[in-house]
Amino acid sequence: MSDGWTERLGWAWDLISYDPARREAAHRILDEARVAYSDALARYNGAWGRPEARARTDELRTAMSHLLPEALWASPPPPDLGVWPGTPYMLLYLQWEQRFVGEWTWHAKYWSAKTSILRDLAHQVQRLDQRHLAELSDLVLQVVARPQRVGDEWYARLAQVLSRQPLYEQLLALAESEDPGIRERAGYLLLVLDGAFPGRPSLRQWQRYLREHHGRDRHVRVRGSTGVPWFERDDEVLVRCPRCDGLASVRRDPNAPPADGRTWRAWCTECDYADVRVTRQARCAGPATELIFGYPLWLQAECHGGHLFCVDNLEKLERFDRYLRARVDLRSGAQYGTVPAQTYLSSWMMQTSRRSELLAVIGSLRDSVRERSGRFNTQSGMPHEAPG
Ligand SMILES: [Zn+2]
Repeated sequence: MSDGWTERLGWAWDLISYDPARREAAHRILDEARVAYSDALARYNGAWGRPEARARTDELRTAMSHLLPEALWASPPPPDLGVWPGTPYMLLYLQWEQRFVGEWTWHAKYWSAKTSILRDLAHQVQRLDQRHLAELSDLVLQVVARPQRVGDEWYARLAQVLSRQPLYEQLLALAESEDPGIRERAGYLLLVLDGAFPGRPSLRQWQRYLREHHGRDRHVRVRGSTGVPWFERDDEVLVRCPRCDGLASVRRDPNAPPADGRTWRAWCTECDYADVRVTRQARCAGPATELIFGYPLWLQAECHGGHLFCVDNLEKLERFDRYLRARVDLRSGAQYGTVPAQTYLSSWMMQTSRRSELLAVIGSLRDSVRERSGRFNTQSGMPHEAPG
């Protein structure tokens, strides 16, 4: 019994094929499914509170069930992963990250999906069949053999509940590796399996192990976040001047003492307009506006299909540029580039057919800043000096 999983997601096995042409074809099917999903989402949002809402909900769920990893959450949580037809696709998602991490990162990087899959599998490990258990054991070893990634602590929790042999034996072999990183990770897992630590494996426990056994505390970035709350950031936001419609800038004044909020300054590069606002609250004045003064963002453009593309500043614009260019046609023999951290493409941006349009939009937005005032440093988009 597959409940239609093979019909809906059978193509997804090609995501981990060693044949680049098959992976390329699978990526394109995923593109199509994403577009169908985002269209269904728009219809669902439009039907909110109306009689057709139920039909739109069903439609949205159906669209979701054609996507990986989203299909795993399109139906109610399964009571038994041992017999659930979605379980092989949980493993497929993990294997995809393992085997083609660049492609996985570009198309379907969801740390929360990875960790929740690992958590669910660990909870129900007793119910899984031998084939799945063997695959999971292999995955644990593959994770040990590559650099650490976000969410890997859940592999340690999984290792704890998998059967000890042959995993332990194989970890002992990895602990003799010439690669110090592999030795370190295998050594940690061996201690976990030996019950050397109180409590369950966690990022903190791993860091403690590094401190105690290797004399350092490697910085591990969690979920791609800078750890700085939005309200504390000094990021500049490029906006349209309310007086002359020219290029203006908004940023937090890092030197101003916080009276009863944060001090934000706006100044125009083309006229003498300037403004100050002390607030502790962002306000959303609408789409594509900055959040303190409510001015329209400078870097915005409507794309084909009515989609709005907007970003705060040139640095973020360049990240979108790099993200889009990181995807290649695998049939050309090239490999995916690195995706910039903290940048996420909306579903509609992920289609290969939109790529040239989006890159052109990014190019013209970049030019629109460079064409303006000489007071802007064209590398960073920062004014040479902020008014006092
Ligand atoms: Zn102005």
